[in-house]
Amino acid sequence: MPELPEVEVVRQGLAPLVTGRRVERIFCSGKKLRVPVPLTELEARLPGCRIVGVDRRAKFLVLHTDHDDLLVIHLGMTGRLGLFPADTLRAKHDHLCFLLDNGFEMRFNDARRFGSVQFFSPRQLRDADPFANFGPEPLGRSFTAAYLQKRAVGRKLPVKGFLMDNRVVVGIGNIYASETLFAAGVQPLAPAGSLVREQWQEIVRSAKKVLRKAIKAGGTTISDYVNAGGESGYFQLELAVYGRVGQPCHRCRTEIQRVMIGGRVTFFCPTCQG
Ligand code: ZN
Repeated sequence: MPELPEVEVVRQGLAPLVTGRRVERIFCSGKKLRVPVPLTELEARLPGCRIVGVDRRAKFLVLHTDHDDLLVIHLGMTGRLGLFPADTLRAKHDHLCFLLDNGFEMRFNDARRFGSVQFFSPRQLRDADPFANFGPEPLGRSFTAAYLQKRAVGRKLPVKGFLMDNRVVVGIGNIYASETLFAAGVQPLAPAGSLVREQWQEIVRSAKKVLRKAIKAGGTTISDYVNAGGESGYFQLELAVYGRVGQPCHRCRTEIQRVMIGGRVTFFCPTCQG
């Protein structure tokens, strides 16, 4: 499942290829995605519009048009976005294709169809579910130790689950929550409300560092974007604890342990995160 860095890498790859392009036509497979595709609205409003920018909110890609509409795409589990010359044969699971004015098609391919393509006004993006309750972006300025400490007051749930709550901060999934807490030296089962300011500072610093590093690692795939058959920028992650149960910690050689927190598998070093 793509996490925030993968989606950001897709955004960075997509932006220069579609920004400034006009959408001419839309093709839809008619298959249901996780939420219904607003095809009538898309066909009425999108053709003729120019894409003026590509943003990201949490794990949603947000394409802005010059008519102030937003095409909001979520990759779900298996969603991929690619650009192909329009005469290239469409692939199985190409559910939405947007013909651009340069002869390329932007294609949304999704085998398992947990992804979504929606059409919003800027106001809906702010106020609609799930956006209205989203916390700050982890790479943004409002994600600070002071903010986290305030949100954690009185909270007994493990800090790992706290960090994975989109209402607290968006886009820190299972892998990056484990990696962040290892880098910060914080025990994942510690109740969120028990952490002190220095620990929150380490968590914020580590989260930004871990995410930036992952984005940078994915950056090398961007040049292949057009020709990669719609690959969405997955990359080999260098993980310190995630998936390494029983293997020695890179720092202290203690065996990495595994524990379930909120139904999610969690990896940590009992020495470095004691
Ligand atoms: Zn260790």
